[in-house]
Amino acid sequence: MKIGVIGLGNMGVPMARNLVLAGYEVRGFDIVSPCPKDIKAAKSAVELSTLSDVVIMMLPSGSIVKEVADEILPNMAKGSILLDCSTIDVESTRLVAETATNYGVLMADAPVSGGVSGAVAGTLTFMVGGSAEAFSTLKPLFDIMGQKAVHCGDSGNGQAAKICNNMILGATMIVTCEAFALADKLGLDREKMYDVVSTSSGYSWSMNAYCPAPDIGPISPADNDYKPGFSADLMLKDLRLSQQAAKAVDADTPLGMHATSLYKTFVEIEDGQGKDFSAMLPRFSKKTRTDT
Ligand code: NAD
Repeated sequence: MKIGVIGLGNMGVPMARNLVLAGYEVRGFDIVSPCPKDIKAAKSAVELSTLSDVVIMMLPSGSIVKEVADEILPNMAKGSILLDCSTIDVESTRLVAETATNYGVLMADAPVSGGVSGAVAGTLTFMVGGSAEAFSTLKPLFDIMGQKAVHCGDSGNGQAAKICNNMILGATMIVTCEAFALADKLGLDREKMYDVVSTSSGYSWSMNAYCPAPDIGPISPADNDYKPGFSADLMLKDLRLSQQAAKAVDADTPLGMHATSLYKTFVEIEDGQGKDFSAMLPRFSKKTRTDT
């Protein structure tokens, strides 16, 4: 199976590299980033698509994914697979899947959880939308790049799972941070708060695995001056996708909406840009109530 990877950024390079290390022939293409020496460089997305049985896209947005798919799909062999691992909107995913079907190409959306460290370590979680046939053909690749792949249903369902997961994550991180800031003001030691909450009903991934308070719990970006990790910018992107999807299907998501607005303020007006999404804790620590 020959593989092409389009989008050689923070995630695309380590994912491609793990496939090379597993013995696959992998070509890479990016309009800006140079192709690393250990990955064969393709001259264009079109050249890459004609030489690949599976084309993986790891790109920033739905509009770019649509643009690249429109360019390469007419050149892909019938029965080959287009695998989009980018996080994008459900609507664009389903449109690209429809176009792929018209060209006789299988399409799967498989956004990931686990970030850059998961991509490097090959421990990503893939949330996969598309046919059972595409999923089973791609499974060996998911097993190399990740530790778990869940077939979530038809096209778009991988993106749906990703944005629902990250809407929970964004809201949970915010409330974990505001609880730490409240505990500080109540004179409750952060270590004690962690000991209680991480083993009580308030526990969550944000508290137990990615604690936003420095020097508490397992090592996390809080211990590295809030360098990402998973940036507040990317959390804002995913929360916006969740609200775009919620609007499209008329779903009431008040906490998701409020989390989006808080991360928007943090990234665009305050100093959150480029920081880890758990840097909400020092943000809340600086704030006072506005309703009194
Ligand atoms: P990135 O910006 O580092 O990489 C994207 C790459 O795509 C860039 O190198 C860019 O030059 C390239 N690109 C843009 N337009 C292109 C085009 N038309 N043709 C070819 N290449 C093009 O982004 P990233 O961090 O690697 O993230 C990629 C995707 O993965 C995004 O959708 C992101 O939301 C998602 N994601 C990222 C993380 C993370 O922690 N970084 C975690 C989970 C999911």
